[in-house]
Amino acid sequence: MTYDFDLFVIGAGSGGVRAARFSAGYGAKVAVAESRYLGGTCVNVGCVPKKLLVYGAHLADEFEQAKGFGWNVGQPSFDWPTLISNKNREIDRLNGVYRNLLQNSGVTLLEGHARMLDDHHVELDGKRYSAKNILIATGGWPSIPDIPGHEHAIGSNEVFFLDQLPKRVIVVGGGYIAVEFASIFNGMGAQTTQLYRGELFLRGFDGSVRKHLQEELTKSGIDLQFNADIKQIEKQSDGSLSVTLNDGRTLETDCVFYATGRRPMLDNLGLENTSVKLDKRGYIEVDEHYKTTAQSVFAIGDVIGRVQLTPVALAEGMAVARQLFKADEYRSVDYQMIPTAVFSLPNIGTVGMTQEQAREAGHELKIYESRFKPMKLSLGDSTERTLMKLVVDADSDRVLGCHMVGPDAGEIIQGLAIALKAGATKAIFDDTIGVHPTAAEEFVTMRTAVSE
Ligand code: FAD
Ligand code: NDP
Repeated sequence: MTYDFDLFVIGAGSGGVRAARFSAGYGAKVAVAESRYLGGTCVNVGCVPKKLLVYGAHLADEFEQAKGFGWNVGQPSFDWPTLISNKNREIDRLNGVYRNLLQNSGVTLLEGHARMLDDHHVELDGKRYSAKNILIATGGWPSIPDIPGHEHAIGSNEVFFLDQLPKRVIVVGGGYIAVEFASIFNGMGAQTTQLYRGELFLRGFDGSVRKHLQEELTKSGIDLQFNADIKQIEKQSDGSLSVTLNDGRTLETDCVFYATGRRPMLDNLGLENTSVKLDKRGYIEVDEHYKTTAQSVFAIGDVIGRVQLTPVALAEGMAVARQLFKADEYRSVDYQMIPTAVFSLPNIGTVGMTQEQAREAGHELKIYESRFKPMKLSLGDSTERTLMKLVVDADSDRVLGCHMVGPDAGEIIQGLAIALKAGATKAIFDDTIGVHPTAAEEFVTMRTAVSE
């Protein structure tokens, strides 16, 4: 049987573009369908614009710090529409880069919504395409709880396009996006409240990191409220929002921003026409080679709900391309020691096990922790502190986890991830000469365990 394509990719986001480009590079005939924007969530409403806004918000601290170094910068003022329009221009440029990448690698780009007709056929704009293999890389979508008045709230798709910076914002959630946007809004000068339903935000991160960030965000002026959730939102005649909490309290605000997780994007995908099944959580079920319950259909990235990070989607896309068209180079993705950063102000950088996970797994531990004032802040009156922490297996001396809260933690943790993946012991950390004067050198100079 002949098909129109060897591989039909649905979704030109992080994972889909990677799989499409590399498959075409290996000689396959490839199409990719995209219904919204080239580059997907990360480029358009995720990592990239978020990081630009974080840079913008951090400048507020830097104007303050500049005074200690003798600079008089006057009274800084901030214009949100300028930032958003410059950000939009940069994203347009990146969309063009993605278009060129696909076209130059020989991929057929089909712009429109793709719907599966069966395990080998896809329909787009009234046309029917056949493919030997189909890859679902449709990503995720913000999930906002269905509380009364939820239509007055925004999610991460809208936040990047607000016309004006709200004067008062309530951020709901205690995960990556909520923490990052609380820092962004606060840095830009909005009066920011963050509500989290549990005892302490960032569930799953190391306990010391969670506590330290709580202290730092509070110092930076964010009103953090834990064990707090919204019952209903009402719009007032002046356009402001009245928010009633579960404990009966009422808060007034101009914007409610929900960051309460993401659901898989399966809308009108036609899965009911195929033999693809969903797992218990509602994500696409795949085996260890990303094959769904249909022999010819694969799925990767956020839509399989494993680790929702761009570099993971890229690795999975690469794995599918090699598996199908370059079998001698195929290797499965290693999900151990995935480094990650939360771009709050200050950043979190983390790789490997938390102290709690290591204990749970039965390790005898040595814990090393250091807290200090970053040198750059020593000439001003900032009270910000950096935290660095090593979780070490007492028997083997292996470093099981590295955690940091502080400036550039995301940059610093990438190199440590290589060391941990290579199986570095604490003795190797100790033998490594530091780079002086940096914050990062503290990771190789911590000598005394704070707890065993
Ligand atoms: P996506 O990138 O979401 O791509 C899916 C694509 O499929 C989309 O373009 C969509 O339009 C398209 N599509 C869907 N259905 C169809 C259809 N039926 N037909 C045609 N096209 C379709 N990760 C990090 O590693 N670092 C970060 O700093 C980071 N920050 C983030 C900040 C925010 C606010 C958000 C929301 C996410 C962030 N992420 C970050 C996560 C990261 O964006 C995702 O993990 C990543 O984009 C997943 O890639 P994907 O290929 O699975 O899906
Ligand atoms: P997360 O899963 O990280 O966090 C969701 C948060 O919302 C949790 O605190 C959760 O609480 C809370 N929550 C969930 N449901 C409700 C509800 N019904 N009512 C109130 N609170 C609720 O999701 P995000 O939306 O922050 O981000 C999605 C994913 O995108 C992340 O997990 C991450 O993989 C990726 N991402 C990565 C970034 C990075 O690498 N820097 C940045 C942004 C996103 P609880 O803990 O109690 O369940």
